[in-house]
Amino acid sequence: MSQSLQEKDIHYQLHPYTNARLHQEQGPLIIERGEGVYVYDDQGKDYIEGMSGLWSAALGFSNQRLIRAAQQQLETLPFYHLFSHKAHRPSIELAEKLIQMAPVPMSKVFFTNSGSEANDTVVKLVWFRNHALGKPEKNKFIARTNAYHGITVASASLTGLPANHRGFGLPLPGFLHVGCPHHYRYALPGESEEQFADRLAAELEQTILAEGPETIAAFIGEPLMGAGGVIVPPRTYWAKVQQVCRKYDILVIADEVICGFGRTGQMFGSQTFGIQPDIMVVSKQLSSSYQPIAAVLINDAVYQPIEAQSGSLGTLGHGFTASGHPVAAAVSLENLKIIEEDNLVAHAAAMGERMHAALRRFTDHPLVGEVRGCGLIAAVELVGDKDSKAPYQTTGTLGRYLAGRAQQHGLITRAMGDAIAFCPPLIIDEQEMDLLLERFERALDDTAQWAK
Ligand code: PLP
Repeated sequence: MSQSLQEKDIHYQLHPYTNARLHQEQGPLIIERGEGVYVYDDQGKDYIEGMSGLWSAALGFSNQRLIRAAQQQLETLPFYHLFSHKAHRPSIELAEKLIQMAPVPMSKVFFTNSGSEANDTVVKLVWFRNHALGKPEKNKFIARTNAYHGITVASASLTGLPANHRGFGLPLPGFLHVGCPHHYRYALPGESEEQFADRLAAELEQTILAEGPETIAAFIGEPLMGAGGVIVPPRTYWAKVQQVCRKYDILVIADEVICGFGRTGQMFGSQTFGIQPDIMVVSKQLSSSYQPIAAVLINDAVYQPIEAQSGSLGTLGHGFTASGHPVAAAVSLENLKIIEEDNLVAHAAAMGERMHAALRRFTDHPLVGEVRGCGLIAAVELVGDKDSKAPYQTTGTLGRYLAGRAQQHGLITRAMGDAIAFCPPLIIDEQEMDLLLERFERALDDTAQWAK
């Protein structure tokens, strides 16, 4: 008898971010097709994709213009590369477009295929630049605990989540982590948001001084932390952090892989949070993930020494076969055009208001510790005890249960520990948003019943 698709999956695939042993028992949910904000499994059941896939399908799952852009480019030039002075129209036009859109003056764009590769590229470009400046010892990076910057060796070292370090012998030396700006979890008793931000900035400065400022190359952060639990920093956090970085000649890197292109209610998270980055990383909503692509934007102060050094050495010895892939670049250009033409940033802000107003109603629920977010991204953090903020049984128990119930009710969300994330496609309309919230409420009721 021939194997079912489920059986073949269990037999042949090692899944990313999956408990391999558990997968042997429970197998996959096979998603067969998508339409708008919905995806459908192989039994025809519909799910609202409350996470846009992986925080990424801004235009939903069936945009015909993106499909046509890919098809046209496949027919014209399905592949070409950018090595050794080669170029092609889609990558050139996309680089120009990103420089025009950037919220601060940027000089050059370097393309990669994923956010992880983009952050590894950042590390290497910064090292290359500091070698060029005669400061090879200025090579350490500072990130934050709970940050997510990817999973390749350097970007996983920037990431500040135990799951990405445990079992891998990471982070590499020279990758440091300072405190996570989550007031609800990490503020001292009675500490205001502003006092908390002051304390985090002081901690950053102490870390720099302890290591020696001449050894610290850069500070990297997501404007709003995504995978670490949708953490919105205190209002003055970024201003204070940037002040410390500037004082010690430390580059500021904004990882906009989730925030970029409208997610926070403005085009970039850097605008929402007042960041003036020297380097910006974008991906995900750049192409709505219809094609794999990411980009690193660097300002002129970063670029100039790199130009000089590659001149002396004869090349910049870094790049991927598919850097700036023409199909991915063509899809991205069309995607950005649609985001602008359809005013999706303002739409996301409006839909975000609707979502936050509805989610705030759950603040009084016995299992809800905190409701947070900004623009069209939010999280509801579940707790076993509201006063002590302690988890129910162990951390993740409620989150896992609720996400499972939500899936039963036709809503795909993501539990990060006990924080349930919401990051629907930017195109979601009012009715779809209300249905998403209704399905969440049913899952929350089930969870409350179960945890009684
Ligand atoms: N940076 C941020 C902020 C992310 O959220 C992610 C992925 O979720 C990455 C980097 C890594 O991107 P990728 O999964 O494409 O390697």
